[in-house]
Amino acid sequence: MSLFRSASFFKSVASLADAPASVAEIAFVGRSNTGKSSALNALTGSRLAFVSKTPGRTRLINFYALDAERFIVDLPGYGYARVPEATRAPWEELLGGYLQMRAPLCGLALVMDVRHPLSELDQRMLRWFCPTGKPVHVLLTKADKLSREAAQKVLRRVEGEIGAFAPNTSVQLFSSLKKSGLEQAAAVLLGWLDASAPGPVVAAASGRDPNENPRQDRGWRNKSPRAKRGNQPGAKCLKV
Ligand code: GDP
Repeated sequence: MSLFRSASFFKSVASLADAPASVAEIAFVGRSNTGKSSALNALTGSRLAFVSKTPGRTRLINFYALDAERFIVDLPGYGYARVPEATRAPWEELLGGYLQMRAPLCGLALVMDVRHPLSELDQRMLRWFCPTGKPVHVLLTKADKLSREAAQKVLRRVEGEIGAFAPNTSVQLFSSLKKSGLEQAAAVLLGWLDASAPGPVVAAASGRDPNENPRQDRGWRNKSPRAKRGNQPGAKCLKV
C-alpha cells in the first residue's frame, strides 16, 4: 500500500513518444462514472485523479509516479463512443497503441460498477487486451450499493463469465466510499509491479530501448501479429 501512497502526478502525454522512461506501470481503465477516479484516489490516499477529468486532459494518458521508475497510468475517455470519428480515431490510436505496445505495462486494472458489470465495451476490452498475455484485475466498484450477499453473487457471476474468455483475469469487490477492498487491490497490483524484473529503463522520446517494439508509437489498428492474421477479436470494434 505504501508505494501507492507516494503517488504524485507526473505528466500527461498525447503521444507514446512522450511517455516517461519506466520500468513498470499499471494502467487503470473504466467507463465514465464507474468510480475509477475514486478508486485511484482511495488507493493513493489523495485527490490525484482529478487530473484526468480536467477538460483537455480527457484525451491524454496521465502518468502518476510511484517512484523514479514505476507509474500508475490513468486512461480516461474509455467508452465515449458517441464522439465524432475525427476526434475518436486519434484517441483510439493512442490508447490502443499504449495498451498493446507499451513494454513496461505489466497489467491492467479494469474498473466496473458492480451494478453494471461486463458491459459489451468491457468485454471487448478484455478480449482485445488478453492476447497481450498481461494480467487484468477487475475492480467491481460501489460494492456498498449492494447487500453483501448480492455483491458476492455478482462477484461469482463475473468471475465465472470472465474465466470463459479472459483466463488471466482476477476479480474483486471494491468500495471507495467504505474503503473496502483496498488492501486486496493493492496486493494484486503491487505484486505485478514487484514481479516485473527490473530491466533496462525503457527509453522515452529520445533513443529507443533495444527491447522496445519499433512499432510502439505507430498506432494499434491491425498492427498486432493477431490482427495481421485477421483474427484479433474485437480489435476493430473497440470504441474508446
Ligand atoms: P469515474 O468517472 O469513473 O472516474 O467515476 P468517479 O470516481 O468520478 O465516481 C462517479 C460517481 O460515483 C461519483 O458521484 C462518486 O462519488 C461515486 N462513487 C465512486 N465510487 C463510489 C463507491 O465506492 N461507492 C459509492 N456509493 N459511490 C461511489
